[in-house]
Amino acid sequence: MIAENGEDWARERLEEYLGKALEPSREMPAFSVPDHLGWHEQGDGRLYLGIPVSSGRVVDSTQSCIRTALHKIVERFRCDPILMPSQDIILSEIRPQDRDTIESVLREHGVPRAEDIAPAARWALACPALPSCGLALTEAERVCDDIVAGIEARLRHYGLEHERLSIRITGCPNGCARPYTGDIGIVGRMPGFYSLYVGGDFAGTRLNSAVADKVPLHAIAETLDPLFALYASARAMGEGFGDFCHRIGLPAVQRALAEWRKGAA
Ligand code: SF4
Repeated sequence: MIAENGEDWARERLEEYLGKALEPSREMPAFSVPDHLGWHEQGDGRLYLGIPVSSGRVVDSTQSCIRTALHKIVERFRCDPILMPSQDIILSEIRPQDRDTIESVLREHGVPRAEDIAPAARWALACPALPSCGLALTEAERVCDDIVAGIEARLRHYGLEHERLSIRITGCPNGCARPYTGDIGIVGRMPGFYSLYVGGDFAGTRLNSAVADKVPLHAIAETLDPLFALYASARAMGEGFGDFCHRIGLPAVQRALAEWRKGAA
């Protein structure tokens, strides 16, 4: 509504509701996403620890027994768990002298540390989709690790594996994992097929654009590959993938994808 009617219109409507005049809008400081994973001082002498949780699913598996580890730590050290919008978990109120023991409990249970995880996986989000959500058209959480691993392999091919990147995957267009503002949005359209979006930004302050439709699950990373190649060769210093796609513009992104499709045919 603000895009259509303008800021002045929005301010006037707000003033009507509030019954008082508002100051003119001010420039916002650049928005940034703080990284709470790993160990941090919490400001009162105690520590907090951010633990990565793939798609927010606290469950024991053959690779990692995160559920058991969290249960033991919270029970023994009485730390306060905080669920994060990044689908990770913070354990707060930790006494500095308990740090090493908590580290060893996590290690014994195979819980990966933030620094063990590549940026693409570390910042990826997926909604629950199948089988939990009745609106799901495709898988999301259960295919997240495979999709991210495929993308990460392509990034590595171009030496981009250390770039910070937000990948957001959902099982339907409702977008519960915020796919429309990520560097890469992957949205389920029909069983086994996804729409791809690029051009958002890491901080989630800009909408991305649809660049490919009905892409089979197995072809997602391959479809994005020409954009990674372009990004590797033409990005500005420190420029994020979404920012790059936004800067070169939708026509250039679509040209790169079309040329790749022609070459693949
Ligand atoms: S995005 Fe769709 S499939 Fe995913 S949780 Fe939301 S409604 Fe369900």
